[in-house]
Amino acid sequence: MSIERARPKAFATLCGRIFRDTDPQYFPSAQHRGKLIRLCTDACLGAFLADPDVFCKVHRNSDKAAARMKAEIEHLIGLWSTYDSSTKSD
Ligand SMILES: [Zn+2]
Repeated sequence: MSIERARPKAFATLCGRIFRDTDPQYFPSAQHRGKLIRLCTDACLGAFLADPDVFCKVHRNSDKAAARMKAEIEHLIGLWSTYDSSTKSD
């Protein structure tokens, strides 16, 4: 396995928190219905594991909002890298 030095990435945890420029591998994760989900803290993971379905239900709306936020952040990161390369050629 190779470790890639990735450019800043944004990701959302199941509980609706957004992290950017942070490596998701440092966050607790779990499998749920065949999907890898991430949580912000071990406490959050514990709450998820206690009752995954209830946790998902409670956070479903924030999950949607998080997905929107994530798209927005990725868009901004795209703009930043465009800006970065345009300043370099100056
Ligand atoms: Zn959380």
